[in-house]
Amino acid sequence: MSNPADVIIIGGGHNGLVCAAYLAKAGRKVLVLEAASGVGGLGATREFAPGFRAAVAHTLPQLGRQLVKDLDLGRHGFSLAADALPTIALAPAGGHITITADGLEGASPADSTAYATYLKLMKKFARAIDPFWHKRPPMLGSGGLRDAATLGQFGWNLRTLGKTDMREMMRMIALPARDLMDEYFESPPLKAALAWDANIGSKLAPRSPNNAVIALLYRMSGDLTGGLPLARGGTGGLTDALAAAAAAHGAQIRTGSAVARIVVEQGRAVGVELAGGELIRAPKIVSNADPKTSFFKLLGARHLDIQFTNRINRLRMNGQVAKLHLALDGLPDFTGLAEPGGRLLLAPDMQFIENAFDAAKYGGYARELPMEVLLPSLHDDSLAPAGQHVLSAQVQYAPYNVQGGWDAHRDSFLDNTMASLERYAPGIRDRVVASELLTPADLEQQFGVTGGHWHHGEFALDNWWMNRPTYGASQYRTPVPGFYLCGAGAHPGGGIMGAAGSNAARAILEEN
Ligand SMILES: Cc1cc2nc3c(=O)[nH]c(=O)nc-3n(C[C@H](O)[C@H](O)[C@H](O)COP(=O)(O)OP(=O)(O)OC[C@H]3O[C@@H](n4cnc5c(N)ncnc54)[C@H](O)[C@@H]3O)c2cc1C
Repeated sequence: MSNPADVIIIGGGHNGLVCAAYLAKAGRKVLVLEAASGVGGLGATREFAPGFRAAVAHTLPQLGRQLVKDLDLGRHGFSLAADALPTIALAPAGGHITITADGLEGASPADSTAYATYLKLMKKFARAIDPFWHKRPPMLGSGGLRDAATLGQFGWNLRTLGKTDMREMMRMIALPARDLMDEYFESPPLKAALAWDANIGSKLAPRSPNNAVIALLYRMSGDLTGGLPLARGGTGGLTDALAAAAAAHGAQIRTGSAVARIVVEQGRAVGVELAGGELIRAPKIVSNADPKTSFFKLLGARHLDIQFTNRINRLRMNGQVAKLHLALDGLPDFTGLAEPGGRLLLAPDMQFIENAFDAAKYGGYARELPMEVLLPSLHDDSLAPAGQHVLSAQVQYAPYNVQGGWDAHRDSFLDNTMASLERYAPGIRDRVVASELLTPADLEQQFGVTGGHWHHGEFALDNWWMNRPTYGASQYRTPVPGFYLCGAGAHPGGGIMGAAGSNAARAILEEN
């Protein structure tokens, strides 16, 4: 067994790269082993048709300034193609409502006033909870001072909201998004657009009781621009800069190097074996893969106790979002929209989203599908040939376990998606020169994420903070000494944020 590193990181997704960069910056010898031919995971920009490029994750609402500053990402090639895209709640016949970082355009006076109140309150809640995304979660009953201090600070941050707002936050935390939106707003497409961020990526819809507010606050956690940023070169522009930053600090990154298993000796992780049989030793092994892959495929359940294994086994990891990339020979015409330059939300009302979810619950999919659409090439001409465009859409709900399997349903799901797009952009089909539909099954197969899940496991109250992915592994350490998690399945969860990676690096550095 060779021994070239202090730390081996399995996976060069953005969290693995963030973890590598912080560890290397702190002087650790780091080796990143990535299965794919390039880095970036779900954030990588890939050519899906000749001359047309897109990334699965297309916007960066959760990216923070601190990460960009700490790793000097600007120097390593990171820049923005757009800093604060508005969200446009489309109405099929026009009369759209635009949601900017500061307010609404095109809305009724009542909705505009309500939005100001809503946004102020949500921002206040987001500020109270924000520090905890960037900290190791506490472990209940650990007796540790640090854990007690984190819990105390959490309580204090809630208390200093003031009595009324604290009570309001506690009331709202588990509220279905639908109830929250109905309380504040009257416009159906506006309510649907605002509810979207509470449910995107999880097996949830507006009527689901669970964590609407927590998910919304999570989506509001980025402070890079205060809006919806797009990386130049697609999200891969960010992940390439992360790789360059890690390499500049001395991290070694090997692509095309799938790890087959973690080597455990006397109850401790001591190395990895690559798919080709090469053995590499290191005292610390960190996994950027999802929890089920990490614990079952790489480590092996035999190294874990049965209760822990059962909890990981029960994590809900069936993805619900499909990704559509279209290569277009020109700009599509969205009814009533001068230029489709924002994030377009195609859902006339919350019931429409709910109906699509209802079909997916039972392994089917709706004839009309809600989606979030972006034309990133409008802001970045490196993504498509001159005069042509890329359309990037997140389509809900596409159940991982579709009845009959995705091979039987791919064409009809794509057909339903195109018909749903046509409703808002008549004639768009005629502009399509190539398309790529990535179902959750494709995402699993191509990106190695169990179930193709956005967050590497539901973002829900039972799988949140000190329960992410489960107690016993929520502080980045796992029950097996020397083995750590740094991916989206760890706190605080998915989205291009890098907090799981930086928190994991800090937890490792604190040990010695
Ligand atoms: C359809 C879809 C759309 C999304 N859109 C957005 C968006 O617009 N904005 C946003 O912020 N978030 C979005 N997300 C969520 C976001 O992409 C993920 O949460 C995030 O990329 C997770 O990052 P990660 O580094 O933890 O994991 P990943 O990006 O999944 O990276 C894990 C890496 O580990 C590697 N790996 C796995 N197993 C092995 C092995 N055995 N050996 C070596 N390497 C291995 C994989 O190849 C991969 O590169 C979206 C997700 C999906 C599914």
